[in-house]
Amino acid sequence: MTIHFRQGKLEEHERQAILEEVYQQAKEAAKTAVKTVVEALLEAEVTAKLGREKGAVRHISGQPRSSDWACGQCGCQDAQQFTRDGHYRRSLQTGWGSIEDLRVPMLECQQCGHDVICHFTVLEKYERFWLDLDQDVVLGSGLCESLRHLSERWGEAVGSSIGLRTLNERINQMAPVLEQAHQTPITQVPPVIQFDGIWVRRPRADGNHENGSAPSAATATQGEAHGEAFGLGTVG
Ligand SMILES: [Zn+2]
Repeated sequence: MTIHFRQGKLEEHERQAILEEVYQQAKEAAKTAVKTVVEALLEAEVTAKLGREKGAVRHISGQPRSSDWACGQCGCQDAQQFTRDGHYRRSLQTGWGSIEDLRVPMLECQQCGHDVICHFTVLEKYERFWLDLDQDVVLGSGLCESLRHLSERWGEAVGSSIGLRTLNERINQMAPVLEQAHQTPITQVPPVIQFDGIWVRRPRADGNHENGSAPSAATATQGEAHGEAFGLGTVG
């Protein structure tokens, strides 16, 4: 980016160039932040599952340490038999763009020497996309955004096209989880709720307009006091 400083205001194309530069740098910073946080969480999950820090001596007691991760060969689920075995690298698509060379820990089973199949909480093994796409898809479909629009927005963010089928599958996978969330009582009720909405008028057959109707969204601030919480809905 080059700017020729002189008297007077910025030219329009210079203003655009500055904003674009800020956007690109913010994107790079966000990608670095996601990579750092995800890698730290992956390491922390390994430490929690093994019950020992990296480099700590492995103790084997008569009591197995049961894990939901299992050896792909012998099926062993005793975390005392698992040891850290380096990392593999993969890419991950996020709302800020594609992250390359994400370091994912690997474990080896000491009973048979094969790989342990690790399913990490923050990273689904065969998913191209990270959690932020899921959140965005939930919000977008809640606000009646079309799949095509979601796909265009995401394609632009990650720099490659995202099929409508991929998005649809994701929504279908999340539907039962959302359904369950809607039925589960809210135990921690936020004290502050902020409403927002857009006022629209329903046209009538005679060409006049009925009273307005506002598709509303509510957000809540988490705290300790009690109140009432609302989801997406329509007020008439
Ligand atoms: Zn094994």
